Amino acid sequence: VVVAVPKERAPGERRVALVPEVVARLVKEGLEVRVEKGAGEGAYHTDQAYLDAGAKVVERAALLPGARVVFTVQPPEMDLIQGLEKGALVVGFMQAHKNPDRVKALMERGVDALAMELIPRITRAQSMDALSSQATVAGYLAAIHAARLSSRFFPMLTTAAGTIRPAKVMVMGVGVAGLMAIATAKRLGAQVFAYDVRKAALEQALSLGAKPVELPISAEGEGGYARELTEEEKRIQHEALREHVAGMDAVITTAQVPGRRAPILLTEDMMDRLAPGSVVVDLAAESGGNCVLTKPGEVVEVKGVRIYGPLNLPSELSVHASEMYAKNLYNLSRLLFKGKDFAPDWEDEILKGALLVKDGQVVHGPTKALLG
Ligand code: NAD
Repeated sequence: VVVAVPKERAPGERRVALVPEVVARLVKEGLEVRVEKGAGEGAYHTDQAYLDAGAKVVERAALLPGARVVFTVQPPEMDLIQGLEKGALVVGFMQAHKNPDRVKALMERGVDALAMELIPRITRAQSMDALSSQATVAGYLAAIHAARLSSRFFPMLTTAAGTIRPAKVMVMGVGVAGLMAIATAKRLGAQVFAYDVRKAALEQALSLGAKPVELPISAEGEGGYARELTEEEKRIQHEALREHVAGMDAVITTAQVPGRRAPILLTEDMMDRLAPGSVVVDLAAESGGNCVLTKPGEVVEVKGVRIYGPLNLPSELSVHASEMYAKNLYNLSRLLFKGKDFAPDWEDEILKGALLVKDGQVVHGPTKALLG
């Protein structure tokens, strides 16, 4: 069975789906692995490293013919889809709601697709959970960028030139990324505060040494996610957070609600309470932003406050982001192959949950509804 790894072509994407270490494992199991020339460049894996791992390194034209499974990071682009064999399986982030045209192309081409973002968040699937591995990277970098854009130190310093008090950092939305942002800001020496609408998240924040901001709102949704707040809850949240935000040197926001625009947590009147020289890093920029002033992909400065809405942070840390993603794919591949044979059990809860397109049809309910 042939598996293929294309070079990612999305602008700015430096990750690669399989790293040489994982290729070697798949080759050992009897699979033929083809890697497109230069695929590992952005993550500093040379073609030679893939050859040494037992892969064949080929031009794009020779990559897809006969390939049974194709592993990608970003949603497959149109010309990749056109090159796939009927009945092949493509595995990667699909972001179907943003790419309906590509989903249609996959259907028309008769190609099956597994979406990494649809892997169920269950215990057995943790090792395959690419949303979590990539959110870990994003959360870490959010804190690093906050420190970099800040006009103040994060740590407390006692020096001959005086004493510097530690920065106050507030993390809003304490899921996987938020927890990593808390841990990283703590390591940099900041005093960290945490807010989330889920009580469990605040307990985890506390265990990392953050001071939880407790409000009389509990919005646990399904599957460990948050639900959208009611108008009344939003009002309570806004009033309370307005007070807490004043005096922060940095605010990192990561709040998301599945299938919805990201909730607005930082309104204009709250931004007015941040001192000049402070900073907001908004990880929700891709889904609309948690701050009203966020411009996706840009650093803007409003009344002395820098607001950064980074896009695709995991790509910046391409070495470890690729390594973690490739491990996620390897663990998933245990459900796709028996030895060297392609033998997926489509009734398996994990595969069933992540399957987006099968035999020319969208099989994922919400995406089907979206595409009509
Ligand atoms: P996410 O990216 O969907 O959201 C980030 C955070 O924003 C969440 O903690 C959410 O509660 C919070 N949020 C939403 N609306 C908010 C608001 N109005 N104000 C403040 N905060 C708000 O979350 P995620 O990081 O993907 O994790 C979601 C859950 O999934 C967590 O409970 C996590 O522990 C769980 N999880 C489970 C597994 C597993 O078992 N395999 C793996 C990963 C995550």
